[in-house]
Amino acid sequence: MECLFCKIVAGEIPSTKVYEDEFVYAFKDINPIAPVHVLFIPKQHISGASAVTAENAEIVGKIFTAIAQYAAQEKLDSGFRVITNCGEDAGQTVPHLHFHLLAGQPMGWSPKSGV
Ligand code: AMP
Ligand code: ZN
Repeated sequence: MECLFCKIVAGEIPSTKVYEDEFVYAFKDINPIAPVHVLFIPKQHISGASAVTAENAEIVGKIFTAIAQYAAQEKLDSGFRVITNCGEDAGQTVPHLHFHLLAGQPMGWSPKSGV
């Protein structure tokens, strides 16, 4: 198993866990770009958003449920952003599906400002 995030789920590489259930694991990003920067990942290996299928898509709902629960727990009432990068053009660096949860400050960029 060579996948970095699979190793984090397995406890072979340390992480700062903030949430875990049977299917989902969440931990603090090692290089945060906002006061709150957490990565939500499926425990099962899925390489990215392009590998979501009818068979495995249920995990995406479970991840967003976990995100909503975490946002309520952390009182992220002024808002948050969820991002997933897929592939080279998007700058995906870890080929295991993950959703960045960013919060704690106004976001400087939005889809309205272009890419
Ligand atoms: P992406 O560039 O969208 O693939 O996101 C990968 C994220 O994983 C980056 O924000 C990295 O800072 C983060 N990251 C890489 N290695 C670790 C690690 N060992 N623990 C926590 N976050 C990590
Ligand atoms: Zn993996």
